[in-house]
Order: sequence, then structure tokens, then C-alpha cells
Amino acid sequence: MSYQEFDLKGKVALVTGGNSGIGLGMADALARAGADVCVWGTNPDKNRAAEAQLSAHGVRALALQCDVSDESQVEESWEKTVTALGKVDSCFANAGIGGGSPLPFHEQPTDAWRKVWAVNLDGAFYTLRAAARHMVERGEGGRLVGTSSVSAIHGAPRGQAYASSKGALIAMMQGLAVELARYQITSNIVIPGWIETPMTQRNVGNERFEAAVIRRVPFRRWGTGDDFGGIAVYLASDASRYHTGDSFVIDGGYTRF
Ligand code: NAP
Repeated sequence: MSYQEFDLKGKVALVTGGNSGIGLGMADALARAGADVCVWGTNPDKNRAAEAQLSAHGVRALALQCDVSDESQVEESWEKTVTALGKVDSCFANAGIGGGSPLPFHEQPTDAWRKVWAVNLDGAFYTLRAAARHMVERGEGGRLVGTSSVSAIHGAPRGQAYASSKGALIAMMQGLAVELARYQITSNIVIPGWIETPMTQRNVGNERFEAAVIRRVPFRRWGTGDDFGGIAVYLASDASRYHTGDSFVIDGGYTRF
């Protein structure tokens, strides 16, 4: 590789929700760039498959069963990750669940609201707190990345719980960028548009949905998990060492149309 900054050999990355979709696209690219990679997810079958896929790139790969909405599971999984791989240089808080409700806002139950926030925001908080603690103690800098959503910046009817959890994540990451810069730790946000993953499966091929939404995407297609490989490698690499507090909208131009 001629531009050495993108070479991730010797680095360790953690991707929560890295066993499918956007997270797997990120983890796969990180491994192909040479990083040892750990992914966390709740589904053991998806974890096994992701571990096999990532190991095939010749790096150390590990998949742990962890529910990020459970504080003690996050702390335990963090310890297991560091014990197995020695350190974490970059942490991608990507795990999330959709919160699209069939109900109008004024009928939405509180438990549905709390469930979405528990995974999407509490989970990111537990994960990034453990990461920041580790990176500050090590004193060698680090990279924090959160996966938000265009729903945080567009109006999302019947999706207020999801959209607000993703908006709060942006605010948290921006505060981390300012607070942690003195430790050479960057904090950035990836904002995906409409991406074909298990989360959006019910809308893929739905003619009404695709006519209303995908036709408005200037690239005229759904995004894929692999479309997030480049940004993950950049943000984990030495090339992005002075780049912090930023949001990367990756939506095929949807937001600009
Ligand atoms: P996905 O393929 O369903 O991925 C979600 C990931 O999160 C899976 O790996 C899942 O693993 C993990 N996860 C879910 N709940 C978890 C929990 N409690 N603890 C740990 N891991 C958990 O969907 P995706 O589209 O790639 O979503 C990835 C991120 O992108 C999410 O934060 C999502 O909100 C965001 N996003 C997606 C889109 C889109 O159009 N697809 C758009 C904007 C933002 P398990 O199933 O094993 O738990």
C-alpha cells in the first residue's frame, strides 16, 4: 500500500452491530485494511458467520454475544475484547434497532419508546464510555464513531423514538469531540440514508415505498453495507487524526435532492 496512513495493520477495531448490514460492511473493510476486528451482536448464528467472514481476511477476528442495552454485558464484553485482542484503537457504536411504529405518535406506548432508546442511545453511551475510559487510560489516542441516521435531520413520521435517539447520538458525539481532543481521541458520526439491510428488508421491493423514496435517491438505488467500508477505514486510520466532530452523510445524495 503506497499511502501508509490507510494501512490498519497493528490496529484493533470494535464494531457493535458488526454481524450484519452497515456494521458488517464496516468490519469487513477494516479487516481487509489489516485491522484485527471484534464485532458484538445478540444473535449467535450471525456472530459465527461474521467471525468466519472476517477471519478469512487473515486478521484476528472475534464475535461476542452482547446486548448493548445491558450495561453489565457491555462492561464484560469490553473486558473480553481487550483481553483477547490487547487493546481497542477505534470503536464504532453502530448497533441499533428500528423504531418505526404502525401507530400515530399520540397512541405510541411508552415501552416501545424506551426499548428503542435503550439500544440506540443507552447502548451507544455504555459502549463509548467504556471505549473512552480505555483510550484515555492508554494515552495513545483513539477513534470513536457513532452510526446515526438521516431520520435525525429529516422529519420521520411515526418514527420519533428512533429519530430522536439518533439525534441525541449526534449531540453526544459532538460533545465527545470537544472533550476528548486533548487525549488525541476523535469523535465522528456516520449518517446513513436508505440502506438495504435486514432492518429495511420489509421496504425493499415494496413498489409504493420505492416509488416514493428510492426514486428520489440521486443514485437511484438502495445503499449497501459495503458502501460504508471506505468511511470506516478512513475514520480508523491515521489519515483522519485531525478530523473530529464531523458528520458524514452517506445517502446517495438523498439529503441534497
Ligand atoms: P441490521 O443489519 O439489522 O444491523 C443491526 C445490527 O445491530 C445487527 O448487527 C444486530 O445484531 C445489532 N443489534 C441490534 N440490537 C442489538 C443489541 N441490543 N445489542 C447488540 N447488538 C444489537 O441493520 P443496519 O441497517 O445495518 O443498522 C446498523 C445501524 O445503522 C443502526 O444503528 C441503524 O439504526 C443505522 N441506520 C440504518 C439505516 C438503513 O437504512 N438500514 C439508515 C440509517 C441508519 P443482532 O441481530 O445479532 O443483535
